[in-house]
Amino acid sequence: MYDDNMPDDKEWGFATQAIRAGFERSSFGEHSEPLYLTSSYVFDSAEQAAARFAGSDTGNIYSRYTNPTVSVFEQRLAAMEGAEMAVATASGMAAILSTCMALLKSGDHVICSRSVFGTTTALFTRYMQKFGVDVTFVVLADLSAWQAAIKPNTKLLFVETPSNPLNELVDIEALANIAHKANALLAVDNCFCTPALQAPLSLGADIVVHSATKYIDGQGRCLGGVVAGKKELMNEVLIFLRTAGPTLSAFNAWVLLKGLETLALRMRAHCENALALAQWLTKQDGIEKVFYCGLPEHPQHALAKKQQCGFGGVLSFTVKSNEENGGEKAAAWRFINAMRMVSHTANLGDTKTTIVHPATTTHGRLSPEARAQSGIADNLIRVSVGLEDIADILVDMQRGLAAL
Ligand SMILES: *Cc1c(COP(=O)(O)O)cnc(C)c1O
Repeated sequence: MYDDNMPDDKEWGFATQAIRAGFERSSFGEHSEPLYLTSSYVFDSAEQAAARFAGSDTGNIYSRYTNPTVSVFEQRLAAMEGAEMAVATASGMAAILSTCMALLKSGDHVICSRSVFGTTTALFTRYMQKFGVDVTFVVLADLSAWQAAIKPNTKLLFVETPSNPLNELVDIEALANIAHKANALLAVDNCFCTPALQAPLSLGADIVVHSATKYIDGQGRCLGGVVAGKKELMNEVLIFLRTAGPTLSAFNAWVLLKGLETLALRMRAHCENALALAQWLTKQDGIEKVFYCGLPEHPQHALAKKQQCGFGGVLSFTVKSNEENGGEKAAAWRFINAMRMVSHTANLGDTKTTIVHPATTTHGRLSPEARAQSGIADNLIRVSVGLEDIADILVDMQRGLAAL
């Protein structure tokens, strides 16, 4: 319904896409995207019903298949990621599950970064392996380890960059080359950067997955996920989704659409506050080390500058501990327990700053050896830096330092 002079979605700038892509006004002339709370759709005739089921008419049938509100979200995200097609899912984990179910089969091999979301690791080890998919975990940044792990049956390389919580990166372009030489696909979980800061498909990745629960909603309200990439791959994901049912609810799609409208602005502000906090922390006596790819001393700072257009809103740091303050864990817990404003919760990507102790929460199920291998020390604290005034965030951090 755009007039002929309106540029194509794909020609718009990023902020414009985030606000307008994928939306066609209905005959009511509404300005804001409408929320279609309906499970099914009425056919005009028996002929039309038959054509829809046969696929020759692409109209809606049932909301497990398509829903107009969900479709706007999918088209908008596809435009923002520079993807041919995007498929929305009920959560980030549903996006990763759907990718695996659609594109892998028994006998295939997957290579996954050691530093991915804990539940992603569990999905691969508990469930993919149970159905005959072999999985190898490698060190995120070590390209030679990825190369060495390639087998004749390798179908998928799966990665998160920057990693949670240590802000380690991998060169996406180089990893895509390794994958493609082996006839495998590269999937990037782009949850930390969002399309506002990083465009994995333009760097050669085949698939982007998201937990929309994080920055895309950005206000801690609902769960959602998305998979984006080439049409031929996404059609397979869509067929799995229709068959198995972990589709995004229309209500959540509507909330996420409202989140997308401010994504570019919010990400810029998250980056600004995170950099300010990181710089401040490096100057404090009680802090041992700060992990943030925006700091020049970060070993992959140059790569972050090359493949991202911002350093993100999540950082972590270790606090100084000794026998006197009760050791590593006690010191970190005292720091966290001293917060008055910052929320103590495991979620991230919220306007509200959140803090968590990875070793006893998000990474608590790992064995002590696996935790040590992943660099999750007992004195490590993760902060997802929100959009409050930086001065107020620093006041709370000062409380944490005083409690050490
Ligand atoms: C939270 C998260 C997920 C899982 O997303 P849900 O929406 O909670 O299912 C996957 N990957 C990353 C990087 C995450 O932070």
